[in-house]
Amino acid sequence: MDAAPFSQADAEQTLLARQLLALHQASPQLLALFDDQDVLRFANEAFCQTFDVRPDGQTRWLDMMRRNLASGRGNVMSAADSDAEAWLAGAASRRGKQPFRAFEADLIDGRWIWMTETTQPDGWMFCSASDITALKIDGRTLRQERDRALRAAQTDAMTGISNRAHVLQQMQEQLSRVQIGAGQMAVALLDLDHFKRINDSLGHAAGDAVICDFARQLQACSRRVDACGRMGGEEFALLLVDVSAEQAQAVIERLLERTRQAAPLAPEQAAMRYTASAGLTLARSGDTIAELCHRADEALYQAKAAGRDRWRWAGGVNG
Ligand code: GH3
Ligand code: MG
Ligand code: MG
Repeated sequence: MDAAPFSQADAEQTLLARQLLALHQASPQLLALFDDQDVLRFANEAFCQTFDVRPDGQTRWLDMMRRNLASGRGNVMSAADSDAEAWLAGAASRRGKQPFRAFEADLIDGRWIWMTETTQPDGWMFCSASDITALKIDGRTLRQERDRALRAAQTDAMTGISNRAHVLQQMQEQLSRVQIGAGQMAVALLDLDHFKRINDSLGHAAGDAVICDFARQLQACSRRVDACGRMGGEEFALLLVDVSAEQAQAVIERLLERTRQAAPLAPEQAAMRYTASAGLTLARSGDTIAELCHRADEALYQAKAAGRDRWRWAGGVNG
């Protein structure tokens, strides 16, 4: 009888197996195959170097780990286990108990790996570990990232000052102090005058530059305890903390004067000037944010109606 012929399918299998083996060998992933007795039967170069081992058909996982712990290579034991044998016993007890398992591990050489173990019903296990050191973010980096995200969420991207949400939050915080009699607050809403003309005659980019300039004037006129921000478009708010009506008026007058003097498009358009109008109100203990803003907005409307480049108190005082 003839032996079974070496079929086309067998040839294909052999080719695939050879390619798989060659690619596993070349991969930077740590790859290893353990048999049902937990003897290392295959390990690629990356695995061999990391665990100082050769797949000689005799070395068991436990031997490999024990040798590594003794020579200061391989895995870092978890801090809870001071005793190497106890740590090994724990690690061995979790090994190969599920069809698939994935976990993080620290290596003594400083790398951080994501290890996966795939186990067949017959007990053979394939291990694959990826180097994820680059993903390991320490607590400090995490805090910095969080702070940066928080700042971005509170900041108006174009001008760099607070955005509407942050202004309203600060307004609410100060209003809470006013409501319990622990402080005072004057609120000014400000809007640039005839801003559409600036956009129309000089272009949107020039308009943006004027908006940014006003944000700087606003900042220059607010103390550290005050708050200012861009409410949207060319509308801004200034919260003045613990000031009298006279002091608030003085701040707004100074702001409007600085704005008149500013030359935001110099040197190209050195003669270009712009102005702003303001509506002012003092917070009352029974106020809501909506009531407060509504009064300031009405005062702003009065300032516009009276000719712009001026301020009005809610309730009719002139400026
Ligand atoms: P008024 O004195 O009555 O305030 O007149 P105004 O022309 O300033 O009128 P209004 O405040 O309604 O105009 C706002 C304009 O601002 C309309 C809009 O096209 C423009 N604008 C809003 N946001 C931006 C922005 O981010 N950049 C620029 N360049 N223009 C903006
Ligand atoms: Mg305007
Ligand atoms: Mg406006």
